[in-house]
Amino acid sequence: MNKDAVAGEKSLKGIAVYPGIVIGKAHLVDRSKVKILYQYLVNTEHLNDEVARFEEALRVVEKEMLSLKNGMAEKLNDLGFILDSHLMILKDSMLKDSTIRTILDEKINAEWALKKSLEKIREVFEQIDDEYISNRISDVENVTERILRTLSGKSQQSLSEIDKRVIIVAHDLSPADTTELNIGRVMGFITDVGGRTSHTAILAQALEIPAVVGLESATHVVADGDLLIVDGSTGVVVVNPDDSAIIYYQEKKLQLEDYRSSIARQGHLPAVTPDGQHVSITANIEFLEEVAAVRDYGGVSIGLYRTEFLYLRSKGFPEEEDLFEDYREVAELMVPEPVNIRTLDIGGDKFVSKLEISKEMNPALGLRAIRFCLKQPEIFKTQLRAILRASAFGHIRLIFPMISGLQELLEAKAILTEVQGELEREQIPYDDKMEVGIMVEIPSAVVMADVLAKHVDFFSIGTNDLIQYSLAIDRVNEYVAHMYQPFDPAIIRMIAQVVDAAGKEGIRVNICGEMAGDPLCVPILLGLGLDALSMNPRSIPLIKKIVRAMPISQARDDLEKIKELYTAEAVQQYLWERTGGMFPELREKGYL
Ligand code: PEP
Ligand code: MG
Repeated sequence: MNKDAVAGEKSLKGIAVYPGIVIGKAHLVDRSKVKILYQYLVNTEHLNDEVARFEEALRVVEKEMLSLKNGMAEKLNDLGFILDSHLMILKDSMLKDSTIRTILDEKINAEWALKKSLEKIREVFEQIDDEYISNRISDVENVTERILRTLSGKSQQSLSEIDKRVIIVAHDLSPADTTELNIGRVMGFITDVGGRTSHTAILAQALEIPAVVGLESATHVVADGDLLIVDGSTGVVVVNPDDSAIIYYQEKKLQLEDYRSSIARQGHLPAVTPDGQHVSITANIEFLEEVAAVRDYGGVSIGLYRTEFLYLRSKGFPEEEDLFEDYREVAELMVPEPVNIRTLDIGGDKFVSKLEISKEMNPALGLRAIRFCLKQPEIFKTQLRAILRASAFGHIRLIFPMISGLQELLEAKAILTEVQGELEREQIPYDDKMEVGIMVEIPSAVVMADVLAKHVDFFSIGTNDLIQYSLAIDRVNEYVAHMYQPFDPAIIRMIAQVVDAAGKEGIRVNICGEMAGDPLCVPILLGLGLDALSMNPRSIPLIKKIVRAMPISQARDDLEKIKELYTAEAVQQYLWERTGGMFPELREKGYL
């Protein structure tokens, strides 16, 4: 009997976001609001005690938050700014002073006064005509709730206190919740809400934890301590399974793990198609520390080093010396293989709180990436100096992100030339043959690719943004996530146009968006004849496995047929049958 399809027990079906099976106890995360049952007047002689009780609660909450921050899992360090902002709210006069004033003026208890302060703040936020800022009210609510819990003697159920290996069951997990997670204790996640690109999904993927989101009623159906089976490959969650289901899923889990390790073990085999075409499979990294993973998974070089995380990590702007050390180390670790370093791409959905980037209506269309750098040439030059200096220690290539046209490219190159001149005058060595490329991720750059190709050494196609900007689908908005479609024929045509323009000018072209690591996309990308596919290191072994089984001639035939399909659904179906037909086990195990 196929337990996936007809699990006799209570079973739920949601969106699978990270393949793998876990069997364990449910830990229900209760984020229900604290009910303020008591609103009472306070005698004048006890008002100072009431203020003291409130101030003590603030101190307790502050301590809690600081210890949370210090104990935060290393992998989640980048989310520390969320706790910093909560600490600031805790001390803000709108919350603190106004509550104390209300206690004293209206002679009421601290909980009641705090609720009143929250209402006032809410009114102010509602007046603000900026969705981003007005949404920040949730941070104020979060902090208020912690104080209320402390005042009421109910401690906030902290995820950091989980001391057993459990499966988290939550309505949703906010970024603030995720900063509390004790990664070693979390076997899996399931949530009521969320889509494939929601925070929970991204977190599960980054941490390689099986997860199912969008279950709608998980927090109602599951009780704390229930035994759960979470199948992150099919999106099935079985609640209190019977013995036969447990045996079935244990067996499936073992098979899945065996399969995953067998793929990983083959990661070092070369990516050569059966008809002898060598395909360069490279890695995208965000941190220097990932270089080891690139080697473990069998990546040959770094196709994309996203440098913004170093800026997000540090308070303010990193110094040239810190950047230089980081880039030099990556270059030295990879020598003689190339490392493609992309200049700063902040803005959009990647903010650096300290940078005081003005709040924009459409951040993805705003002051992001190269636009930000051209507007802040000193910040840009510091990074370029660091990259150039590091280029003397290995094989570095430079990529400018978000280039929309020739003007921008020429401006960026002019600043690069200026920095090179400075280094020469200071007699600081750098690689004067360093190649310079651009991310092709804005539709206007695709249209102008033939012109841009004359001014760069290579193109790197960023499909994540190319899809976002071409289909007008915000890549982080879960309401339109279902329309975010790599298989859209328009996207395939655009990639083909870029490859064509690069070919005519004799420059290399690689692809480094998520599409490069999607097993279904291999026939398209091989068929198009890209020079390299750059992806998340974890995807490398599987993509190599598919490449080894797919003759380039067949991929070209597939591409011709795909070009005759005019909807994303039809393309996806074709690819599903092609790759799924070659590897039925990938389909069964939820990899496709
Ligand atoms: C892309 O846009 O495809 C890309 C690789 O860059 P990022 O995801 O960092 O925007
Ligand atoms: Mg991009």
